[in-house]
Amino acid sequence: MKSPSNFLSARATVSAAAAFVLLALLSSQPTFAQRLPTTVIPTHYTLKLAPDLKAATFSGEDAIDVNISQPTNSITLNAIEINFLSVTIFPNGPQQTGTVSLDADKQQATFTFPNTVPAGNATIKVRYTGILNNELRGFYLSKTARRNYAVTQFEATDARRAFPCFDEPAFKATYDISLVIDAADTAISNTEVVADTPGPGADKHTLVFATTPKMSTYLLAFLVGDFECTGARQDNVDLRVCATPDKVALTPFALGIAKFALHYYDDYFGIHYPLKKLDLVGIPDFEAGAMENFGAITFRETDLLIDPKTAPIDAQRNAAIDVTHEMAHQWFGDLVTMQWWDNIWLNEGFATWMEAKPVAAMHPEWNMPEEVAGDEQDTLDIDAGPTTRAIRARADTPDEIDQMFDSIAYGKASDVLLMVENYLGEETFREGVQAYLKVHEYANATAEDFWNAQTATSHKPVDKIMESLIMQPGEPIFNFATPADGKVSVGQNRFFLSPAIAPDPRQKWTLPICFKTAAAQDCEILTPKTSRVSVPTAALFFANAGGKGYYRSAYALAQHAALVAQAASLLTPPEQISLLGDEWALTHANRAPIGDYLDLVAALKSDSNAQVFSNAARKIGTITDKITSTKEERDQLAVWVQRNFAPEYAKLGPSAPGDSPNTQELRAQLLTLLVIRGNNTELQTQARKLADRYLDDPTSVDPTLAQAALGAAVENGDAALFDRLQKLYETSTDPAVQDSALRLLVQFDNPALLERGLEYSVSNKVRNQDAAIQLAIGLRIPENRDATWSFIKTHWSQVESDLTTDLGSYMVSDTGSFCTAEARDNVKNFFATHPVAASDVALKHAIENIDGCVELRRLQEPNLKAWLAAQPGS
Ligand SMILES: [Zn+2]
Repeated sequence: MKSPSNFLSARATVSAAAAFVLLALLSSQPTFAQRLPTTVIPTHYTLKLAPDLKAATFSGEDAIDVNISQPTNSITLNAIEINFLSVTIFPNGPQQTGTVSLDADKQQATFTFPNTVPAGNATIKVRYTGILNNELRGFYLSKTARRNYAVTQFEATDARRAFPCFDEPAFKATYDISLVIDAADTAISNTEVVADTPGPGADKHTLVFATTPKMSTYLLAFLVGDFECTGARQDNVDLRVCATPDKVALTPFALGIAKFALHYYDDYFGIHYPLKKLDLVGIPDFEAGAMENFGAITFRETDLLIDPKTAPIDAQRNAAIDVTHEMAHQWFGDLVTMQWWDNIWLNEGFATWMEAKPVAAMHPEWNMPEEVAGDEQDTLDIDAGPTTRAIRARADTPDEIDQMFDSIAYGKASDVLLMVENYLGEETFREGVQAYLKVHEYANATAEDFWNAQTATSHKPVDKIMESLIMQPGEPIFNFATPADGKVSVGQNRFFLSPAIAPDPRQKWTLPICFKTAAAQDCEILTPKTSRVSVPTAALFFANAGGKGYYRSAYALAQHAALVAQAASLLTPPEQISLLGDEWALTHANRAPIGDYLDLVAALKSDSNAQVFSNAARKIGTITDKITSTKEERDQLAVWVQRNFAPEYAKLGPSAPGDSPNTQELRAQLLTLLVIRGNNTELQTQARKLADRYLDDPTSVDPTLAQAALGAAVENGDAALFDRLQKLYETSTDPAVQDSALRLLVQFDNPALLERGLEYSVSNKVRNQDAAIQLAIGLRIPENRDATWSFIKTHWSQVESDLTTDLGSYMVSDTGSFCTAEARDNVKNFFATHPVAASDVALKHAIENIDGCVELRRLQEPNLKAWLAAQPGS
């Protein structure tokens, strides 16, 4: 699964806590731990479903072949919101009719039979009805202005809403699916259609799909409507990208990515893609970003359907990454599945680590290694919070399971894999991956299975490294003394962003640490006992060569000064990003004054890498938002921004057709920084002109620059601009264009227009999949935060009705953008009386984040003041 694309806007600042839950899709129904017994094992399902898209209902016939290990007169499986009509069992003996008892809390149904059912094989036949819900999970109704669609989203525990089943990942079975649908409609499922017959009745036809391989329930999909597709054949697989008919013109971009990735993965994994076909389908109402159903991947439309002529580089890159992420899951997750949800990182960490590889190979100009390095810095900051979790953590209830889909399972787990791969070498690591997949294909695996495979193929202590990173929360910081005679003393402890938290001295890590050498890198294993290591010869002492190590580094004064002085010339862009991340973390922990961070940014200002710049620019935004408290400070900081970056912007000149993506992104980011943080009114006027030109003719302006110009223009935007954006949202058929226009409606400074934007967001003009994200953006923008929060509180019943989906936690987590004790108490008190279901983790992190910000301001504002006063021109 993948969260919705990053919705950071030019003006938004994001906090660690907010980012934490960005990925967490929290379930809204509290339920209780209950695993199914293992005495009844499903082997095959024959499932026939007949959805009624107008009435929003469906009927089903579910025949489950099971193996019963002990004689019994009752069988328990999962079902919720299912209306049972009849249950019959055909065992190794006379058939029996069962009665059904339901346990809604446990989401279980128990079938009880009058006589004992003998051990052995049996078939349970169930007839039932259900509802196509509006909750974007289970078998649900997805609507456009034109018509309804019936689609599915089962991960993690919602297959049980569509059919009674043994809904746990280790109960793998095969499936024969058939769908009875309207004569004019089509349907997509995991496998190819093997029969299409008219009836039952004049206005229906019945599609029968090929038997699936052995797979988990959460990976099934049934999608019914008038989808249209474009297709291609690659590596003997039928690949298709599908959408509603009005959007089929936007499918070729993703088809190109999918073709490339399929061949790349076939080669990398050494196991051919297991099915005959693979469909990628854009769904009008979709809660997550994308979902890796075996052979039938579903997407939020913005994450799949891209017009490369009008989409900014980051929208193209995000969509490409979503495609490669979900396709990687076809092996990691679908072919080999985690035994239980406590190891969801085996799915998500892998797909996140893998997603960058084919994209980097296909689009080297998109700076993927730098993207990865930037994401790692965000994850390290999240993992340095007071209540982070270990990668493998207990999860029993649907609620707990859904909360596992967070930055730790995705980001940290992928960072760990990246570090281990970097240590072993790509080829050795790949051999370990192939060995692991081969042993567990069409079955399930645990963390130990993976690291034992890697240890066996590499003959290196991968088990110790991974255990230390997977089983304990947090991250280490390595404190280096001055190197002398080819050696350096080093100490390690757990790192917290807050200087008030004392680390437990017993917590230590075993991991590889890679020093920069003259040629490439030299890695050594540090264990809890290591106090001194050899240092290779290099022009510079830098302890995270390649920027792929999951740790923080702190240097002695002279080494630190040399690093800052030579960072621009001797470090690679990912290394620069890692150094910026370390410097920021040390500032947060009050081990360095904030001026040190800004001096490093200034030292890197001529760096031409857009991702290095964007990491620095985001933090300048954070400093403005979180550390300054007066207009005078912000004005002084704006002067510094102007002095350092206006010449860099001028150097790039106006956009030209031959610009590289890097130049396009750098120019756009500089424009944003100079207008929003540098108060450059001349550029703001230019931005408005660019924005208008784009709205007149989207193909007349570089789309990446246009996006930045729009973000800058709405700051001082007027009603005319608001009207144009609203109209664009309502009339465009390009999801990326619509999405961007909608997001901008809550970014106007003008209070009346902001109010209009917020009201619009919770109106029926905006899909539920977007409403909570709109409110979250309003909270992230410093100037709009108070007004957005008071809107949420005063319009609570309306807001709450839009939060029926799991996305409510987005909004809750972004209340963590505040930075005062009063606001914290206000947030706490409000949600105490207006609870958002299953957002307890989101709220906890939001409160921690506000406290962290208050502490940061208290410690660093005096340093910032002094540093600003010492800048020329102050
Ligand atoms: Zn995923």
